[in-house]
Amino acid sequence: MTSKFRVFATCDIGESIQLLRKRGYEVEVYEKPEAPPKSLIIAKLKTGVDGLITTLRDQVDAELFEAGKGTLKVVAQYAVGFDNINRADANRYRIPFTNTADVLTEATAEFAFFMMGALARRLWSSEHLTRGNQWGFWHPYLPFLGDEVTGKTIAIIGTGRIGLAMIKKSTGFDMNIRCYDPAYQNHDYLKAIQEIKDLRYTRGICHEKSWIRYTELEEALRSADFASVHVPLLREGESNTPTFHLFNERTLRMMKPTAFLVNTSRGPVIDEAALAKALREKWIAGAALDVYEKEPLPSDSPLRDPAIADRCRLYPHFASAAKITRLSTDPNKGMAGRCVQGLMDVLEKNYGGDPTKMPFVVNKEAFTK
Ligand code: NAD
Repeated sequence: MTSKFRVFATCDIGESIQLLRKRGYEVEVYEKPEAPPKSLIIAKLKTGVDGLITTLRDQVDAELFEAGKGTLKVVAQYAVGFDNINRADANRYRIPFTNTADVLTEATAEFAFFMMGALARRLWSSEHLTRGNQWGFWHPYLPFLGDEVTGKTIAIIGTGRIGLAMIKKSTGFDMNIRCYDPAYQNHDYLKAIQEIKDLRYTRGICHEKSWIRYTELEEALRSADFASVHVPLLREGESNTPTFHLFNERTLRMMKPTAFLVNTSRGPVIDEAALAKALREKWIAGAALDVYEKEPLPSDSPLRDPAIADRCRLYPHFASAAKITRLSTDPNKGMAGRCVQGLMDVLEKNYGGDPTKMPFVVNKEAFTK
């Protein structure tokens, strides 16, 4: 039994909560499916909470850290993205926060790939045709055709964990791959992918040579048939290479009129008003989105315009929403397991109590001497 720690979870993350309770933790879970109001989280923190489990729906900033002052020791975020957490504030209050990187990488990349396929091959329109009894005949090109993914060129925007996994999946479809990442370039990974591509060609598994390389953003967008976005949300002042509205009127106009855009990163990376215009005026062929500037997607969003419904796929922030990925209690498989492991590492002073050595702590810089 561990000495009793008090934890407040802003949402139910399944069996992993029991895991904490079995270790003697006193855990209170906000039971409603929607996010609790900030005032409620503040009230809970004021009662003396050691650990806070959060999701991307919670705004974590100085107000919260102040409410938890003296007792709060860790914020365990159930997500890899942490743009809802004010890192500077966490550092000022010297509160480590953790995330759930890696365990959702493959699930998110495969969902991005499926979104791309659904968009290009018009799965939504073709099912509507069948269900609406509009399938009157088989015809070589009527009522519409889709675009192949195999052998096309994809631009990978952001070559971190999920971007690299998307590269791996795109390689299976013999796509040419242009990569853009101003902050991190993994040339070893690209070299290995090129070797796989060359092997597939020389052994007759595919019939055309394909390639992968890093390029600048403009070059990537001007030449790609697909662009898939895998960046964190970084606002002005948070990075030398901010990603807020990276896709705007100017960059969307760089894309080919036949090109498709896929976003599983964060909504504000795309200027949605500009995207809706691009789709209406056919600057690009289509877009598939999993994330939005405001979530859930408002009923009056221009992305819901029926005039663009055939080329705009909309999903409910669902890319990591697979059973094992979301709920496994194994910290090497599931977000829930990794989330509570990050929390326990801090509270139970694993790794000699040094947050800089804890694998799931994000803001290590606050604890270097
Ligand atoms: P990561 O940190 O491993 O990779 C992000 C990459 O983006 C890094 O290599 C970074 O250098 C690069 N980058 C930063 N600024 C850039 C810019 N201006 N242009 C191009 N590249 C830039 O993160 P990850 O694990 O790959 O996750 C990426 C993001 O995906 C997360 O931050 C999260 O917001 C989002 N995500 C969404 C879902 C979902 O359910 N839709 C699931 C998981 C992750």
